[in-house]
Amino acid sequence: MAKISESVIEQIKSRLTISEVVSAYVNLTYRGGRHWGLCPFHHEKTASFSVLNEKGLFHCFGCGKSGSMFDFVMEMDHLTFGESVSVLARKAGVELREETPEDKRKRTESEALQELYDRLTNSFRYILQNSDRAAHARRYLENRGISLEIQEKFGLGYAPAPSQWLYDFLTDKHYSASLLEASGLFSKRNERVSIFRDRLMFPIRTWQGKTVGFGGRDLTGESTAKYINTPETAIYSKRSVVYGLYEALSELKSRKHAILCEGYFDVMAMHQSGFTTAVAPLGTAFTTEQCKQLHRYCDSISTLFDSDAAGQNATGKALVICQDMGIENNVMLLDHAKDAADVLEKNGSEALGKMLENKTPGFEYLVLSAINMYDVKTPKGKSAVFSHVRSYLEATDSEIERQTYIHRLAEILHVDDASIVEDLHHRSSAQETRKKAPETSPVSIPNLARVSSDMFLMLCLATKREEFPVIRNRINVADLEDSLAVDLFTLLEDATRNDLGKTDEVFLQMIDDERLKQLVAISFQSGAFGHNLQKGIDSSLDRITLRKFEKKKKAMEDILGFAENETPDENSSEIRRLVLDIQEVNQEIIRLRGRLGAGVEE
Ligand SMILES: [Zn+2]
Repeated sequence: MAKISESVIEQIKSRLTISEVVSAYVNLTYRGGRHWGLCPFHHEKTASFSVLNEKGLFHCFGCGKSGSMFDFVMEMDHLTFGESVSVLARKAGVELREETPEDKRKRTESEALQELYDRLTNSFRYILQNSDRAAHARRYLENRGISLEIQEKFGLGYAPAPSQWLYDFLTDKHYSASLLEASGLFSKRNERVSIFRDRLMFPIRTWQGKTVGFGGRDLTGESTAKYINTPETAIYSKRSVVYGLYEALSELKSRKHAILCEGYFDVMAMHQSGFTTAVAPLGTAFTTEQCKQLHRYCDSISTLFDSDAAGQNATGKALVICQDMGIENNVMLLDHAKDAADVLEKNGSEALGKMLENKTPGFEYLVLSAINMYDVKTPKGKSAVFSHVRSYLEATDSEIERQTYIHRLAEILHVDDASIVEDLHHRSSAQETRKKAPETSPVSIPNLARVSSDMFLMLCLATKREEFPVIRNRINVADLEDSLAVDLFTLLEDATRNDLGKTDEVFLQMIDDERLKQLVAISFQSGAFGHNLQKGIDSSLDRITLRKFEKKKKAMEDILGFAENETPDENSSEIRRLVLDIQEVNQEIIRLRGRLGAGVEE
């Protein structure tokens, strides 16, 4: 996607009001200076979703979602920012930008490649269906139980064996040498040798049905690569195309559910057995881009990967990606069989359908597979099970859902919920500092496992307000960096001094900031800090002190560097003092790091 210029955004904003954009999706009524409607992002009966044209923003007072018209369209249609800009540009009649000569060259090349791939799809298919030289390919498909109807649906074809056949075929049709070179169809070492020789050909299509690449299955039995794919070209990126999406699209839209299998044959076997929403990532890894595409049409995904270790590993990763995107996920398992294609070939489509009647919810599956791998009776084993499911928990946005999983896991491991919350929190706050940019809308429902150490401490204290006067003496408000945590600190101090907010309800009413209120409310509801409160408070205090010392050390080192430049005599008393002071602070840092153990990452 080309970089979006600010002026395009300005032009769109000058021609469209946000209420115009929103009213294409939501019924709005004007009252009290704003437009109001039922929030499309959460279920509600009275309108708390508002649109303010002067500011160009929407905000929901119910779920806290807010943003611009571009955010709105992104969210509603599951688009990227660039895509939502082009949708609104079209609506506003704004030219996206002028085409440079380089853009034009690229566009022409892409169009030519597109035409070449579409044409080849037809040629390969014709050869498979009619040519004598493809007789063994037809037999192969028959042996694997793939019906003619399914072969046609997926546009299967055959690439002849002679290494220069494809080159001659395309040159005859007047394709230029440079286009053939850019096509990815030929060997890098010899531009006349096709990479697809004596192979069964699977066209890889975009959701609109345009062929952008091929997968080829070896039929000689002699190649080291059973499957090969077109490399990345101007029109093909394997990360962003979902195999079978075009063929499954209409069913996907109506059922809002997809089945994710491993390979070409699995997808075909599934369709033939009536599971017409089966698709596959290309290569083993399911990517975020692919998930986004599927999310445009469906809210739930079942995985059906091979039963071997690689397949199970891919399952875990796919579940986390779905969970992170808020897609309901579960796992289909095949008893004593390698993959769907295998079952179809040996037992037929009815048997396959029977096998797939049961699904295991994503989290349940991850926990069960971890229990099989580790000994949950030992501390190390428990910790390994936790590590196995950690990213799934982190990817869970709904606090209620997460609490449920944590509770379930705690039961299985015989630990208390709070230890899991604690471990999750320490890991995530380290990750949070590294990955700054929020991926979703600016205001989302707050998430306890993702708050800062400062906030974690203050939330512990808010849930147990009688502890505050004691802890208050161990902490200096100036050491808190999270401004919302400072707000909570001030509130707690207020409440203590004026003897207010004894009940949770009244304390909540004292909080003005909506986000803070939600965080505190969630802490009240979850009760997660309850059992392990002292431990949580102590380690948060250590973390805050550690951060303070690290800053201090850095500042002293800067002064030292400066002093050494100014005073050439390295024995000067000032420099010696500084060196000693730095050593002292360093001792503290080492001590604190030791006490915090593995929770701190460099
Ligand atoms: Zn809402």
